[in-house]
Amino acid sequence: MPSRSPDVLIIGGGLAGLTAGVQLSSLGFSVTLIEQKPKLGGRTYSFLHPETGDEVDNGQHLMMGCYHSTLKYLRMIDRLSMVEIQQTLSILFRSENKPPAILRTSRLPAPFNVLSGLMQLKSLSVSDRIALLRVGVQLIIRNPDTDKQLQSISVTQWLDELKQPATNKKYLWDIIAIGALNDSTEKISAALFVKVLKSAFFGSRVNSSMVIPKKGLSPVLVDGAAEFIVKNGGTILVNQSIQSTKQNSDTIISVTLDNGEVIMPKSVISAVPYFDLPKIFPDPAAIGVKGVDRFISSPIITVHLWLDAHFMPEQFAALLDSPFHWVFNKSVIYGKEHQGLMYLALVVSGAHDLVEKEKDELTELAHNELKRFYPAASAASVIHSLIIKEKRATFSPFVGMEQYRPSNITSLKNLFLAGDWTDTKLPATIEGAVQSGFSAAELAAQQLKHEKYYS
Ligand SMILES: Cc1cc2nc3c(=O)[nH]c(=O)nc-3n(C[C@H](O)[C@H](O)[C@H](O)COP(=O)(O)OP(=O)(O)OC[C@H]3O[C@@H](n4cnc5c(N)ncnc54)[C@H](O)[C@@H]3O)c2cc1C
Repeated sequence: MPSRSPDVLIIGGGLAGLTAGVQLSSLGFSVTLIEQKPKLGGRTYSFLHPETGDEVDNGQHLMMGCYHSTLKYLRMIDRLSMVEIQQTLSILFRSENKPPAILRTSRLPAPFNVLSGLMQLKSLSVSDRIALLRVGVQLIIRNPDTDKQLQSISVTQWLDELKQPATNKKYLWDIIAIGALNDSTEKISAALFVKVLKSAFFGSRVNSSMVIPKKGLSPVLVDGAAEFIVKNGGTILVNQSIQSTKQNSDTIISVTLDNGEVIMPKSVISAVPYFDLPKIFPDPAAIGVKGVDRFISSPIITVHLWLDAHFMPEQFAALLDSPFHWVFNKSVIYGKEHQGLMYLALVVSGAHDLVEKEKDELTELAHNELKRFYPAASAASVIHSLIIKEKRATFSPFVGMEQYRPSNITSLKNLFLAGDWTDTKLPATIEGAVQSGFSAAELAAQQLKHEKYYS
């Protein structure tokens, strides 16, 4: 097999690998990216539903105004127009038999915009809302990156320390924390939660706004990146994995693909998840990556339903006291309200308890929940349903796990790591993946320049 010698070989075509590819291509480096699956995107992809033609995501993804690296990436791949950035944060909370409550930020500068929104949140009593101020004060004074006490306790412990009433936990903090960190608040790290809240609530006013993809995840986040890389002379090989790597004491010399092709890159970025790294580097500690075996995955289930009546007016809502955390009205999001069937996506994060349930059971549960929150749903029939269980959706950010997240640097001078699980100080998110891709690309570019491949 003939060999190729790109400047950079990127292993993994999820958002981390694609970001690294886009950034390095934009800097003029030659890139070869390989992806083991037939499709790019990793944990963010979409496909067409055969019966309705609707774009179905592997799971609803929300971004936020504080996803600065992701917004930069979307600008680079010319897909910013495919997302809606809310002017101000607006989230509808639905309860059974009660009028919905809205968390809406005001036009005041941050963090007062969020504070004033929280003070008006009608799903909480006035005294509960006042208790939220204790959390606000902590967000101002604590630094989650250095605060050892915060790093050693769970979100629940932290909220208990701040004397948050059970209602505040159940009807506000848990919803935000489970949505952002994808596991139970009893397990997840208070430091990461504080980091998320600070990123969203401080800085620019738009940081707290939701950013909603208006099309499927592949057209919004993936296809433009592939086009960008190829247009700039890069190569993308799908359905290809690594058979072996050849290295000396401090450098990767060549990589052999499954099809026998030998690639001799000057630099390598591994952008694969933690559970795939040992398949390429059987002893991660030997390349300076310790703690891979400490990661645990947390699942997300999405129940996609198509119903024969349009009874949900809003784009999305948080469901209080439900096994489903969120419901997204994809018909409204895609601008197809009142056209054809109503397409809803119901999401369970940290879905350990439901992940083994059968399709019919989950479909029935989802329909019954809709009837509780939207009485008009009783008159609607489910015409199609599709369940997507992402068993390894994210790593679980349990207390103490931050110490195991590797940096982008390895002990090999031309091997760098990217991926949402690297030490981004963020939960496993699009923003974490994209940030890690930019960081790894910068390191690879520095190495290539340092070794005088480029001036
Ligand atoms: C259902 C769901 C909902 C989510 N919701 C949100 C959300 O609302 N907001 C948010 O910000 N984040 C969300 N996330 C998290 C987000 O999707 C991930 O954090 C992000 O996509 C991770 O990107 P990555 O590039 O690090 O990893 P991945 O997407 O896993 O990409 C890694 C790629 O490497 C490939 N690979 C592995 N081994 C090899 C090999 N040997 N050779 C070649 N290729 C290989 C894999 O096939 C994969 O394509 C959600 C995730 C899921 C699953």
